[in-house]
Amino acid sequence: MEQKGILMVLSGFSGAGKGTLVKALLKKYGNYALSISMTTRAPREGEQNGVEYFFTDKKHFEETIKQNGLIEYAPYCGNYYGTPRAYVEEQMAAGKNVILEIELQGALKIKEKFPESLLIFVTPPSAEELRRRLEKRGTESPEVIARRLARAAEESEGVEAYDYIVVNDDLDVCVEEIHRLVEAARRAPVRQREFINEIRKELKSFVKGVE
Ligand code: 5GP
Repeated sequence: MEQKGILMVLSGFSGAGKGTLVKALLKKYGNYALSISMTTRAPREGEQNGVEYFFTDKKHFEETIKQNGLIEYAPYCGNYYGTPRAYVEEQMAAGKNVILEIELQGALKIKEKFPESLLIFVTPPSAEELRRRLEKRGTESPEVIARRLARAAEESEGVEAYDYIVVNDDLDVCVEEIHRLVEAARRAPVRQREFINEIRKELKSFVKGVE
């Protein structure tokens, strides 16, 4: 069967551990590619342009929207975030499972534009654990943490829009679970259209041969 990559969205509350999960997934398996988003948020300490994000200003971000350079974008806690189109298209064409690490509004737009995408929501085991992880990160002010918790409460209302929810308690277990979900999703007929059409065409040609 043809092994075509899929477009997958990984969302989760800020502090759910998505970044660490994605890194582990990329390290363990060769058939994933991570899309690097564009944002108007300021880099956190240690973040580099072109690694975690493409950091830019509002003017350039809005120009990129106008040029149809983003497959989706959304405002989040006072900043813009968006997914650059070119990389996603290239990697999908190369057969990779492309990971978009984006929030709810972006995820909904992706599902609308690409119904065959796979939407996975990652959550810590509890709300208390989420708060603990956010505080432990130590890179954000109490005000920002409070805003992110408020946003998490909002986002929790949208979880049903996702195909799957996974709990990130043990990192290795969670990575395996996500990988298994992706592998299973790839075998759904809606994500194997080309393969199915090929078989149909061949079968029809056999039928013609015996008529
Ligand atoms: P952070 O500021 O913590 O890096 O990201 C804030 C939120 O923006 C996270 O939920 C993250 O998944 C989301 N995000 C990152 N990149 C994108 C993007 O390209 N589009 C959308 N819609 N959300 C994004």
